[in-house]
Amino acid sequence: MSAARPEPAHARPLRGADAGAGAGDVLSSAVGPLVDRSVAEHTEEMIALRRDLHRHPELSWQEVRTTALVADRIARAGWRVTELPRTGLIAEIGEDGPVVGLRADLDALPVGDLTDDPWASHVEGVTHACGHDVHTTALVGAALALAEVHQRGLLPGRVRLLFQPAEEVMPGGALSLIDEGALDEVTRVFGLHCDPSLDVGHVGLRVGPITGAADHLDVALVGSGGHTSRPHLTEDLTFALAKVLTELPAILSRRLDPRSGVSVVWGTVEAGSALNVIPSTGRVAGTVRMLDAVAWSEAEKLVPVLVEQVVAPYGVHAQVDYQRGVPPVVNDAASIALLAGAVEASIGPAGHVPTQQSLGGEDFGWYLDRVPGAMGRLGTRTPGGPTFDLHQGNLRVDERAVAIGANVLARVAAAALHQPGGEPRMVTDR
Ligand SMILES: [Zn+2]
Ligand SMILES: [Zn+2]
Repeated sequence: MSAARPEPAHARPLRGADAGAGAGDVLSSAVGPLVDRSVAEHTEEMIALRRDLHRHPELSWQEVRTTALVADRIARAGWRVTELPRTGLIAEIGEDGPVVGLRADLDALPVGDLTDDPWASHVEGVTHACGHDVHTTALVGAALALAEVHQRGLLPGRVRLLFQPAEEVMPGGALSLIDEGALDEVTRVFGLHCDPSLDVGHVGLRVGPITGAADHLDVALVGSGGHTSRPHLTEDLTFALAKVLTELPAILSRRLDPRSGVSVVWGTVEAGSALNVIPSTGRVAGTVRMLDAVAWSEAEKLVPVLVEQVVAPYGVHAQVDYQRGVPPVVNDAASIALLAGAVEASIGPAGHVPTQQSLGGEDFGWYLDRVPGAMGRLGTRTPGGPTFDLHQGNLRVDERAVAIGANVLARVAAAALHQPGGEPRMVTDR
């Protein structure tokens, strides 16, 4: 089965007629000020939580302490918490009506903390270098605000929080949450990711794909081997391996839509040990990246067939190990309109800015493969300050982003409950 074709990436107005008058009415009346007040009241607590999480980072699938802290805080605020079998949790508020999902990821990276901040990591070789401490804290802040909105009877449905473990490994925690039913009945799902190249006070938005797909490919060839003087009497495995190296990227770029930006790059080549012996085994391995969900759904089946066709004339046998990574995060237009509305209401009309698609991977793509939704890029750079990059030990975030993230997430959930759900997406085979 193929994934839904992503929205064209051309510029679209971020707010359209489909943003929904009902959503605007509610935001401008009771919900907005309530969210503002709750976030302001809890900002100090949120900064303390973020620093606590930063000081005690936990690797993928080991987020035990982080899960416990989150579970305790939001349960006290009235959320029904279901802790997951390994780590992470799902929480819900509201009794009936549509369900909107908000997602944060919990895990840190095996990267040492190079900062000397008072809240620098206490765990040798592990730090929150992808800003997931900010995502987690912002969602806790949103949860506290939404609990108040619900208590006032202003939430016309349910909100489900997905505190997901293990975003940084493959297969990521998103798939295990989906298996636990995290998306059952969910009409839209939203998330934010830190962007250290964007000034705090801005959220980067884009309709269509904002991240790429990255798969792993390993091709092993097996032949009889023999003397280099008689390739016609044996199977010239080295020659066939060279053909795979150059022909597979070439053919794939002709069999997949060139707009998918498919890129096969080899990182490992192994064959032979003597200059006059044709080896009986050889191997090439690398990554297959692309920008488009449709091409991604086709590549897994296409690659083994093409490899077989490339090596067939040489009589060698190919074993192809193709491991899918994550699909691109493909933002739905109506969800981006809702997110843009929430950003405008939180930080003003200049708050949202266009962002570009990256070739990075993000397992939020699995959620958007199943239900409509959107991920925005949360600016964390101090204006005039240095630009950091994700996955590096010197990452510093401007902590004002925590309250902004909490405000935007709470508002977009409330707004989305006033907007009927979009068309269900076609589901990509895993
Ligand atoms: Zn990361
Ligand atoms: Zn991340």
